[in-house]
Amino acid sequence: MGGLDRNESHLAASKPSCGARTRKGAPCKAKPMPGKSRCKFHGGASTGPKSSEGRLRIADAQRQRWAKWKEEKLPKE
Ligand SMILES: [Zn+2]
Repeated sequence: MGGLDRNESHLAASKPSCGARTRKGAPCKAKPMPGKSRCKFHGGASTGPKSSEGRLRIADAQRQRWAKWKEEKLPKE
């Protein structure tokens, strides 16, 4: 006998959670965002800045943070 076992609920259950690696090394157990394969903590909600303006702004903020961090860490001579 042939016949495909079309158990779609079983198929859907094969990807029940986000699955991203957490800092502890364990797979994330949070529910993925609808239509996404990752939870909101792992990129489900946002894919980051989309406009070049937003990227520039973030890059600039990071540069400033770095400069500040270096200033604090490096001994002054
Ligand atoms: Zn996750």
